[in-house]
Amino acid sequence: MVRSISELKDIRGKRVLVRLDLNVPIQNGNVEDPYRIERALPTVKYLLDHGARVILMSHMSDKAGSLQPVYAYLKQKIHVAFVDDICGALARTEAGKVQDGTALLLQNIRRDAREEANDAGFAQELASLADLYVNDAFPVSHRAHASVVGITALLPAYAGFQLSSEVEGLSPALTPQSPSLAIVGGAKLVTKVKLIETLLSKYDYVFVGGAIVNDFYRAKGYEVGKSLVSGADHAKPMLANSKIILPDELIVTNPAGAHDTVATEVGLEDVITDISPVAIRKIAPLVAKARTILWNGPMGNFEKGYREGTDELARLIAGSSAKSIVGGGDTLSSIQSLNLMDKFSFVSTAGGAMLDFLANGTLPGIEALKETK
Ligand code: ADP
Ligand code: MG
Repeated sequence: MVRSISELKDIRGKRVLVRLDLNVPIQNGNVEDPYRIERALPTVKYLLDHGARVILMSHMSDKAGSLQPVYAYLKQKIHVAFVDDICGALARTEAGKVQDGTALLLQNIRRDAREEANDAGFAQELASLADLYVNDAFPVSHRAHASVVGITALLPAYAGFQLSSEVEGLSPALTPQSPSLAIVGGAKLVTKVKLIETLLSKYDYVFVGGAIVNDFYRAKGYEVGKSLVSGADHAKPMLANSKIILPDELIVTNPAGAHDTVATEVGLEDVITDISPVAIRKIAPLVAKARTILWNGPMGNFEKGYREGTDELARLIAGSSAKSIVGGGDTLSSIQSLNLMDKFSFVSTAGGAMLDFLANGTLPGIEALKETK
């Protein structure tokens, strides 16, 4: 297992470099949704409360973006300064000024191309700012970047609370208790092939929903009309697996409107937009007897209002007594309004990192913490 920051003894005065995911949406120069910042605070506050000198780093998905708005939010919560530099002379000077129990936020780490290249020299420059390293950025730990992987060879490395809680929360899904049920929806089969293959090797049943179903129907030779199809070739070999369960009733939309149809009767002009709640109710007996349920991916195009299948599934799982593990960026936004979040055993807030963790059982950033000096 990786070492947690709770094992750190006597860090007063120690310089601790912390990788966070502060990649929040910015609107007109302000933080639009501070959720990720709030989630990062327990680790940061723990280090500050123990007298560490904390240096914070994060990326923004907008590579040119500035963390200045994040700093404006953060300084209302903790004692923190900001430097518009990553590891140059300015950053070194500011890092040198950090006092016990205070923090410094570095600029968007992806402004330097060496970050994503996992450049050894860049990792060295970052490492020279600190005595210890902490990774509390599970959502980027599937990336072998300098601030996630490279740096762990240079400083004693530890896991922050958020990373540990994702690993702890998701791990039961790697060793499901029988009878077990995995449910995979979403848009593109190609992004979930590895995940589904892993699930087929571990789970008793794998129910497929979302636009992914279209690939399976196409592979079966069914008409899918004008529906989104991304990788029927990948679906073909999986069709033979008796663990795969496909919904048999769908919602289709065409110029005349939306209606329920059986899977074999999709018309040339139809677009499959959701799984019919009728088909979802058919897996209710499996949900009822399952001991472990894993769910990723909305059942339909919920942003356009086709959300009945997803809502029905969320209610079904929320009502089960199984260990239920749910996650995925869009899965979360599709169910957030249902007020069911605390009805699942664990809700992951990571996207691609969660899929990779479930598919491979670990992540490069987690493995790097194990090999720490
Ligand atoms: P997650 O982020 O939870 O892993 P994905 O990113 O794989 O989920 O997929 C979410 C997307 O899939 C959503 O944008 C949703 O609208 C889309 N989707 C699901 N079913 C359909 C469908 N039948 N047609 C078009 N898009 C769909
Ligand atoms: Mg998504």
